[in-house]
This record gives sequence, C-alpha cells and structure tokens, in this order.
Amino acid sequence: MRVTSDMDSENSSDLSILLIEDQLAEVDYIREILSQAKSYSFSITHADTLGKGLDLLEQNHVDIILLDLCLPDSTGYATFQRAHKAFPAIPIILITNINDETLAARAVREGAQDYLIKRKMDSELLARAIRYAIERQHAEEALRISEERYSLAVSGANDGIWDWDLSTGNVYYSERWCNILGLDCQQPANIKTWTDRVHEDDKADFNHALEAHLAGNSAHFSHEYRILTKDSGYIWVLSRGIAVTDQDGHCTRMAGSITDISSRKRAEEQLIHDALHDHLTGLPNRNLMLDRLGHAILRKSGRGGHATDFAVLFLDLDRFKNVNDSLGHSVGDELLVLIARKLQKIVRPGDTVARLGGDEFAILLLEVNTLSMVTQIADRVLDECATPVEIDGHEICTSVSIGIALGTERYTSSHEVLRDADTAMYWAKSEGKACYEIFDREMHSRVVKLHQLELELRRAVERNEFELYYQPIVSLTENSMVGFEALIRWNHPQRGLVRPVEFISTAEETGLIVPMGWWTLREACKQAKQWQQEFPSDMLPSMSVNISGKVFNQPEMMTTLRTILKETGLPATSLRLEITESVLLDHIDESLDKLAELRELGVGLHVDDFGTGYSSLSYLQKFNYDTLKIDRSFVNQMEDSNGSGAIVQSIIALGKLLKMNIIAEGVENNSQLQRLRELECPQVQGFLFSRPVDSKTAAAILKSSLQKFGRYIM
Ligand code: C2E
Ligand code: MG
Ligand code: MG
Repeated sequence: MRVTSDMDSENSSDLSILLIEDQLAEVDYIREILSQAKSYSFSITHADTLGKGLDLLEQNHVDIILLDLCLPDSTGYATFQRAHKAFPAIPIILITNINDETLAARAVREGAQDYLIKRKMDSELLARAIRYAIERQHAEEALRISEERYSLAVSGANDGIWDWDLSTGNVYYSERWCNILGLDCQQPANIKTWTDRVHEDDKADFNHALEAHLAGNSAHFSHEYRILTKDSGYIWVLSRGIAVTDQDGHCTRMAGSITDISSRKRAEEQLIHDALHDHLTGLPNRNLMLDRLGHAILRKSGRGGHATDFAVLFLDLDRFKNVNDSLGHSVGDELLVLIARKLQKIVRPGDTVARLGGDEFAILLLEVNTLSMVTQIADRVLDECATPVEIDGHEICTSVSIGIALGTERYTSSHEVLRDADTAMYWAKSEGKACYEIFDREMHSRVVKLHQLELELRRAVERNEFELYYQPIVSLTENSMVGFEALIRWNHPQRGLVRPVEFISTAEETGLIVPMGWWTLREACKQAKQWQQEFPSDMLPSMSVNISGKVFNQPEMMTTLRTILKETGLPATSLRLEITESVLLDHIDESLDKLAELRELGVGLHVDDFGTGYSSLSYLQKFNYDTLKIDRSFVNQMEDSNGSGAIVQSIIALGKLLKMNIIAEGVENNSQLQRLRELECPQVQGFLFSRPVDSKTAAAILKSSLQKFGRYIM
C-alpha cells in the first residue's frame, strides 16, 4: 500500500483516486485509513473545491472520485449532479455526514456508486467500497454500451421486436413493431394485438408454425404471412423468434422480430407473373395455359366422365407473316395486341385466353356442356378476328384458323389436349383457312403419318434417294417429240418407287422442297445436255422442269439457275420451267422481274395445270408466258358433257390469240388425240405416247426414233 502525495499521483499501476474534500482533517483521515488497507494500492489526488476537482479531472486519469457533498463552491445534491454530469463514466462515492444520508441515497439512485459516512468507515470498508464501485461502474458501462449497440442494431435492422412473457401473457412490442403495423405504442397490447391481425387465410399456417415451435418441434420460429395494418390494409411480414424454456422444458418466454417483406413479395409476385405471362399482350403464356388445362383435366377426371366440360381452341393468324414482312414488326405486334383484346372480350371470366407464342393463341373454355356452346364461341372468334383493324393508318384484314379439342376422359395431360387442338388447327388451315375444325382421332393418325413422312423425307434428301423420270412432249404439228418433262420419283428403301403426289406437299411444308428442287433442276439439265451430246440432231430436245413456288420465290433463284446452266452447259433455250400460276400471283412484282430475266436468258416458261387455279386473263398477258399446259382433268373429261371439252377448246383458241403454245396433258387414248388434232392443239403429252420413264428408257426412245426417222418421232 502506497499513499502518494498530490505530486506523484500520476502512477498508473495503482487505482487513482480524486478526493474532493475541503476539510483537511478528513483528507488526512482518509489518507490514513487507505494507507492501512492491506490488499489494495491507491494513489490519491486531492482538491479542496469542486471547481479544482473538475479541473484536475480534465487533465488527469482518475479511476474514482471520493466526493464530499459540502464544499466551499458547491453544496448538497447539486455537487454530485455537477460532477456526475461532467464525468458520467467515472464512478463516484459520496463522503457524507450523517445528516446528508437521505441526499446521498438519492444520489445513489441517480448514478452515484455508493456513499459512506465520514468517520464511520475503516480502511478495509473504504478500500472494498472503492474496488466494488469501480467494478460496478465498468459493468454498468459495458451493459450500457451493449444496450446501446443492441438498440442501434434493432433500429438499424428496420425490424420490429417483440418479447412475449408466456407466464403473464404480456407482450412487449418495440416502437418499430408498432410503426410497421401503424399502431400506437402507448396503447396496451397483448398477444392478440398481433395474432388477431393475421390474415384469415394465413391463420391456420401461422398458428401451426407457432405451436410447433412452442412444442419444441422446430429450432426456430420463422413464418411469412399477411397481417392487417391500421391504415394500409394487409402487408406481407416475416416473423422470426425463439422460445426460452425453464428447467422443466416449459416455454416461459419467446422473443423475436417482425420484418416488412411487402416489397420483396411484390418483386416475387412480379417475377411469377412475368414467368407465366406474355410480355407483349399481358395474356397468360403457354406455361400458364398448360397449368390451367391440367387443372381442368383433373376436375374432369374427378367428375367421372361427365359430358364435355372444357374445350381448347387453338388459334393461328392467317398470313400474319405477310403483315410483319410488309408493314414491319411494330405493326405486327400491335395487331397481336388488338387480337388479344378481341379474344378477351369474347370469353367469360373463368375462361383463359393465352398467347402461346408468335401468332398462336389458345382459349380454354370451362363449363361448356354442349358442342354448340363451343362452336358458337369459335364462330364469334372468326367473326371478330375477320373485322378489319386500323394500325398506323393501315387497314389490316386478318383471319384466324381454329382447331378445337374437346375435353374427354381420354386426356391425361395438358400437352395432349393442346397438341390435338393444334392438329385440328392444321386441318383448318389446309381446308382454306379462316375456319374451324374439331379434332378427331383420324386427324391424329394422319398427323402421325405425316410426321413419319417428314422424317423419312429428310433422310431421303440427305441420302439422295430421288430419281428423275422423263415423259416425252410431242408436237402434233411437227409429228415429232420436242422434249421431255422431268418428273421426280422417290426410291423409298421399303416402299419402292413413290410418286410425287405422296410427298411433294410435305416437302413444301417442311421446306425440303428447296434442296430437292435444286437437285432436280441440276439433274435434269445435266441429263438434257448429255442427250444433246449423245444424240445430236438439228432439233435439240428441250427439258421441262417443275418448279415449286417455294423454290421460285427464293431470292437466290436466278443466280442458282444461272450457275446450274453454266455448270451443266445446257443452253438456256433448251430449258423450260413449269410453274403454276398461283406461284406468280403470290409475289407479283418480284415475279415480273424474274420473268423478264428468264426471258432475257432464253429460258422458257410453262403455266402448269392451267385452268385449275384462279387464272385471271389479264395476268396472262402481263406475265407473257410461252406455253399453257391444259390440266389433264379437262383432257380426261373432254368427251363428257360437263363442259370440259368447251374449256379445252377455249384454252386452245386463247393460246392462238395470245400467240402462246398449248400443251394438252394426260392424253390417254386416240379419241382424245383425234379431238385435240381437230382443235389444232399444237402439243400433247400423255400415256398414249409414253408414260414417264427412267433415263435409260428415255435414252432408248431417243436413240431408236433418231435411227428410224432422223428425228425424234414418237
Ligand atoms: P404435272 O407437272 O402436271 O405432271 C404431270 C403429271 O401427270 C405426272 O404425274 C405425270 O406422270 C402425269 N401424267 C402424264 N400423262 C398422263 C396420262 O396420260 N394419264 C395420267 N393419268 N397421268 C399422266 P407425276 O409424275 O405423278 O407428278 C405429279 C405432279 O407432281 C406433277 O404434275 C408436278 O406438279 C409434281 N412434280 C413432279 N415432279 C416434280 C418436281 O421435280 N418438282 C416439283 N416441284 N413438282 C414435281
Ligand atoms: Mg408439270
Ligand atoms: Mg400438270
């Protein structure tokens, strides 16, 4: 134990005491008893007024203040107040007279660590009091800092806090908790203040989660639910908490937080909405349609084969691509939005209109018990969609093709229903568009077959399973063969030789017609050139090649054609392209350009199947063809009384007038030939002269007629 003078009070290894006391006898007394304390060491600094004491405190480190309440510059409670206010972190022990005791007790309540009565303290009592006072002060300070940190964290976390005393039922709700719910913090609150506000639909789950935790079945309570605020209706919150149990395992208390998660929930809801809706029209998308359809199927199976109670309409806009290509995508988009609005107006509230993608829509109709209910709606859809709309000053006429699948017990998945409706839509398209078709099983098997055909055809293109057959074209005026028409055949590995009628339309739909078309053109040109070299004559046989619209309308059509002519060496004048009139009419401007180029090149142009399409006489002149090929259906029935004969006669007359060549197709017998001669039909083609034959046979025909007659005589 070492009691220092005022001068060496800086020693930091001891507890430094500031003794503020004006009576020197007391000062000596305290120094004396402290010097006797056995287990502690102190250094004492002394001040005889409060002012001096506070100055010393400013300058020196002090562990504890021993403060007399009655000083020359301050007396009573105010003395403590001033010292404590100026240095709240330094513990204060009051040194009082007996008559200051009440005052001292009050000061202890307000933050003084202790009070001791003068002359009544001995050395150990004072030393211990000092020690405890310092420790207590440290503990209090640590607690204060911890509480401050806690309350900062609570307010910073933006969460509301609750603390539920299960034994009394009292709940403490923090200010933030009340703010989140818009409640007044001053109002009395209990557990019902909270639980009564939970949304009716969420109550059962909420209670379940809470009870599970209280029963010890979950480590933490964490639950998201809607809760009623005072002014803003329901909001989404997350409550988390943990229960405290006593030795017997009974829950005594549970505390936790509440977090406002409304904005997160809104973002989540938006995400879910976006995932299930189409951005352009805002309609449900394919996923949502499949989901709702799935529910409809489940309900249907639950009812055990009740009559049709749902139906799906699969819609596809007719010629939407034309709108997009000619007026631009923004007009196309606008059209889709307008169609979406029209469809929404037609259906009832429980039904679903969805955009499946591109120009495809689907409608799910619920509670439809008769077929006529479905067809009435389909008719309305057709009508509404056929009403022209105006976009950006353009009047746009559209139509839709609709496939209908009726809900039957047979369906187990929504994909099947949509697939069948799609199939039916496909038939509606092939029936001429702007109509509806109802799915039946036969459609399905036809589609399966078509699909199979498509697969096989792809393989055939890859493996080049095609072969050209050639049918002679005969001139009646010259009495000789003037050329061949190349006709494609498919050497199917299992089915043998397959005729074009069985695969051309599928090839067109799948686009496979394009590689097939180039192959045919090249092969036919090569063959013609070879024959011209092998069997030279003053009249070289020509080669007619059928060109599909898809191929003719390829942008690189002319370049490819020129390349093929160059590579094969066939003179352009020996080549004739056979095109149906509709191909030209679909793209009139481009067609006119191409026809002019073909003419310049010297390639001949035949209108195939003339009479069957929607040939307009005015176009005949415009397009300036070389040859019209009268469709064999007319030649076939020339002798019937149905007018076919008259048609053949008129076409021949027309050809003469417009100075066009005429070829009558499908001449099978002599009486037909006789009649055509009478009508002065210049050229013919048909089984009567020759069926289409393979290249070897065709070469043999050429060879023998040349040998016999010096020219190609049939
Ligand atoms: P098309 O161009 O009108 O060809 C004439 C069709 O009539 C050929 O049928 C031919 O075999 C047939 N035919 C000719 N004379 C007679 C006859 O006296 N009686 C009967 N009953 N039929 C006769 P094919 O070869 O089956 O071709 C059918 C159609 O397939 C062709 O009609 C043509 O439109 C198309 N086609 C054929 N080859 C090709 C090709 O390489 N490319 C394209 N795009 N289409 C082709
Ligand atoms: Mg033809
Ligand atoms: Mg034809």
